[in-house]
Amino acid sequence: MDRVVAAAPQLANIVPYDPKYLPAQAYLSANENPRDVDGDIRAQIEEEVRAVALNRYPDPLANDLRDLIAHANGLDRDWVLVGNGGDELLFDTALAWGGPGRTFLNMPPTFSVYAANARLTNTPIMDIPRTHGFAIDEQRVLEALADPDNNITFTIVASPNNPTGLMAPPEFLERVLAATDALVMVDEAYFEFSRQTMRPHLEQHKNLVILRTFSKAFSLAGVRIGYILAHPEVIREYLKVRQPYSVDAVSQAIARVVFRNRSAFEPRIQEIISERGRLTEALRTLPGVIPHPSESNWVLFEVPDAPQAWRFLYDRGILVRDFSTAPGLEGTLRVTVGTPAQNDAFLSALRTFVLDPDDRFRSEKGSGNHA
Ligand SMILES: *Cc1c(COP(=O)(O)O)cnc(C)c1O
Repeated sequence: MDRVVAAAPQLANIVPYDPKYLPAQAYLSANENPRDVDGDIRAQIEEEVRAVALNRYPDPLANDLRDLIAHANGLDRDWVLVGNGGDELLFDTALAWGGPGRTFLNMPPTFSVYAANARLTNTPIMDIPRTHGFAIDEQRVLEALADPDNNITFTIVASPNNPTGLMAPPEFLERVLAATDALVMVDEAYFEFSRQTMRPHLEQHKNLVILRTFSKAFSLAGVRIGYILAHPEVIREYLKVRQPYSVDAVSQAIARVVFRNRSAFEPRIQEIISERGRLTEALRTLPGVIPHPSESNWVLFEVPDAPQAWRFLYDRGILVRDFSTAPGLEGTLRVTVGTPAQNDAFLSALRTFVLDPDDRFRSEKGSGNHA
């Protein structure tokens, strides 16, 4: 056959996810931890992985890891579910709480994966855009949730919000949780940097789900481990839709070692928090550059001629994320907080771009990515 029947209709206008990862010297585009797992923890990982039976299916629920996470959060194991990265659990959320005739409430600009999953599962999306300074339009959100005609079955609030940077106010989240029985996922992928969590509200609200990941603070983006905290009845619904063996045995072993050693990551987290402040202050001094406040491990900033600024940085080996054509984010770039040396290189290049426009054209074939 030289043709194939059309794929499911909801795929027609979907563009496959593209992280826009390109070869660079400083990867400051994906909110990863700039430092890899190393030293003694790396050695422990090697030992733990050596003991994994590769011919056996993994424990589908990763119960050993689950127990470690549950214990750290003062919960029983049935309040925890581990996934193949937070992304799998986001998809499972749309599978279990979305679908035709049900509505997902979204607050753009936010993590694009939420809306993509809704489209894949034929879930209608109600968008309530953020207002000035990317604040949530709290009044409109509460009104929309209160109107039964909207049939909102779930919402996801990233806190801090990627890519804008600030937390959802906890008082607002409490009002949402009390006002609706819709599932409310609070995406805390960056909570180790914000130091704030909705965990204390978990027992009072059966509709609260907290999402976390090992990809950012714990340097494991390559390993694919995330988890949710939620009421056991909610976890049970996730168990029905998830792929039973999505979390492989090697990833489970690595994550166990890292989680047991999590206090060793604290100095790096503190460094990122302090570098975030330094980056923000330095960006503020550049003419025309407006950094947005961040409680996470990146800084979103407005810069004149943002696409050219992105190119200029890239030509000098520095990969940041270009949001300049994304709806609601026009003119912005997002820089992930790197090591102090990477942050210096980024600042120095951006300073040249902003202060020395002639130099933009002179040294484009410099020693960067095209060398
Ligand atoms: C990174 C991220 C996640 C989870 O990423 P995984 O690598 O799949 O665990 C979830 N939500 C947001 C907002 C993120 O930025």
